[in-house]
Amino acid sequence: MTESDTVNKLEGLSYFIDLYCFQESDRSFAAIAWHCLCSACQERAVSSLKDVEAASLIASIKDCCSKAPDFINSKLPLFEWIFRVFLSRGNEPLSLAELASQLAAYFDNPVSLTPQTLKRLLDSDRYYGFKQWTRAK
Ligand SMILES: [Zn+2]
Repeated sequence: MTESDTVNKLEGLSYFIDLYCFQESDRSFAAIAWHCLCSACQERAVSSLKDVEAASLIASIKDCCSKAPDFINSKLPLFEWIFRVFLSRGNEPLSLAELASQLAAYFDNPVSLTPQTLKRLLDSDRYYGFKQWTRAK
């Protein structure tokens, strides 16, 4: 395998937010995604946070809150930024190459986040539920 094969393989790896891992570790996805909601959506959901389903939260963020100009901004910590990119895309699996190009689009002065670096970051996360996505066989 050549070096460029290895890079292509890495760039093709996809990740997503694994909602199941929140259930498994008995944590609330809603509690983590809450601060990504705009104030209007927070107000709508405030009475029923316990019952808010992850799927409907993600749909709100994708269709409403992520449209705000500062939803993703360079002041956010890197993991938060990645989390929001997934949410704004409805938590569809994103390849490392796509993530890297999203990063370049949001930051004027992109730090060199190669697919290798991104993979290491995503694999080290235990908070946001990032997980490698495998196609159903
Ligand atoms: Zn909203």
